[in-house]
Amino acid sequence: MSIPVQFAFTGPLNDFLRREFRGKTFSYPCPATSTAKDGVEGVGVPHVEVAALRVNGAWAPFAQPLRAGDRLEVYPRWEHPPLPSGYALHPPLPEVTPFVLDVHLGKLARLLRMLGFDCRYERDYADDQIAAIAAAEGRAALTRDIPLLKRKVLDWGYWLRSQHPEVQLAEVLGYFRLAGKLQPFTRCLVCNGPLAAVDKSLVADQLEPETRTSFEEFYRCTACGRVYWKGSHYERMARLVAQVGKETTG
Ligand SMILES: [Zn+2]
Repeated sequence: MSIPVQFAFTGPLNDFLRREFRGKTFSYPCPATSTAKDGVEGVGVPHVEVAALRVNGAWAPFAQPLRAGDRLEVYPRWEHPPLPSGYALHPPLPEVTPFVLDVHLGKLARLLRMLGFDCRYERDYADDQIAAIAAAEGRAALTRDIPLLKRKVLDWGYWLRSQHPEVQLAEVLGYFRLAGKLQPFTRCLVCNGPLAAVDKSLVADQLEPETRTSFEEFYRCTACGRVYWKGSHYERMARLVAQVGKETTG
């Protein structure tokens, strides 16, 4: 048996809806035993992107049972009126969000690491592993796969709207409010390990002659030993940092 429930979604939560429902209040049939969370996810919106909700005008938890004729207003992160304490639907985000990325997001993982953000990523993670890592290590999941974001164990996550890595990067920095928290040249692009400055003499034998003569500052990954210097990769990073700064200030 199903019951009719009214929904109205705010801002980017509309991206998950069928076109005819976007920006509108609409009625949708929900199974009679649904909670507010079941209802929201049944319409297509993953719980991780929902920050607050009202049922018939009153703030409500995800577990609130739905009744026929209920009206839900559903808000994303950053776009809801002030919440009374106890009604936030997720724990607060860490000061600097650590991430776990879905397979196929290797380019985004490298860009985020380039800017210093902690990213777990492997090409062969199963969905179960991604969810387990996110839950165990307090990471936000980044994915293009909406069902993954409906997993109960996840507190934080984000569905990448774009398929282009540099646009995805801007989305992530905006959504998690990270633009002021870049720490370029602190993390290994390949393994995510922290970088430490290293004396040139200690890495000279691993360098091509041209690199050895052109650069003085070197960094080494404390996990895998890979050596970095401010070469072409650094210029790309500087360009990215400048671009991110421009996009987030206006
Ligand atoms: Zn490394």
